[in-house]
Amino acid sequence: MNLLLYGAPGSGKGTQANMPRSHFGIPHIATGDMLRAEIAAQTDLGRQAQPILAAGKYVSDDIMIGIVRNRVIQPDCVPGFIMDGFPRTVPQAAALDDLMAALGKRFDRVIYLKVPVDDLLHRLSGRLVCPTCQRTYPPGTARCEADGSALIQREDDRAQAVRPRIEIYLEKTVPILDHYRGGGLVSEIDGRGTIEEISRHVLAAVNGRMSKTQKTA
Ligand code: AMP
Repeated sequence: MNLLLYGAPGSGKGTQANMPRSHFGIPHIATGDMLRAEIAAQTDLGRQAQPILAAGKYVSDDIMIGIVRNRVIQPDCVPGFIMDGFPRTVPQAAALDDLMAALGKRFDRVIYLKVPVDDLLHRLSGRLVCPTCQRTYPPGTARCEADGSALIQREDDRAQAVRPRIEIYLEKTVPILDHYRGGGLVSEIDGRGTIEEISRHVLAAVNGRMSKTQKTA
């Protein structure tokens, strides 16, 4: 089972990855989390990426394609994976096609979590995150429900980076939807509602059962 989670920053991709991860026992490959781990470990890549993430811009295609190439050939990806945050540009989408073909894999479904821009801006501004497990929480929450860690604000969830992140998403990432729509792979799911409701729709889409709130392009 290979799934691609598609959606704007703040659409709930990371949150919604939990259900298929435990349901199918496949890894969640989140390129943003991988970059933040590099930054925390102060690697060369992390040092290079830090100001780019802080400004809400995109890391170069060459770097991102290299990171993903190295990740998907790991043994835990043999039964499948959930890709989150990649591809974000048309060249990344083309490179991912080539990579999947070389591995003899294909995506079973592209889950598009659709959330209006105003809601995204509202969700991202003031959003808090658990530094241990990456779960996100609304403003005002003190500790992670799962592991009790004190929540922090991501540098790119600060006001000055939120709008640039949405703008670059609209400019560079929205065009790749057509790339997948052509293949009839996209299940569009309303990303507003409770986590459980949305997870039910995600599971139904993955299992090929469409509910009234979803449509397949
Ligand atoms: P995310 O956690 O997916 O919102 O990603 C956080 C940040 O990491 C993004 O705003 C970009 O700066 C960078 N990033 C993550 N994935 C990619 C990608 N596929 N291409 C370029 N930059 C990326």
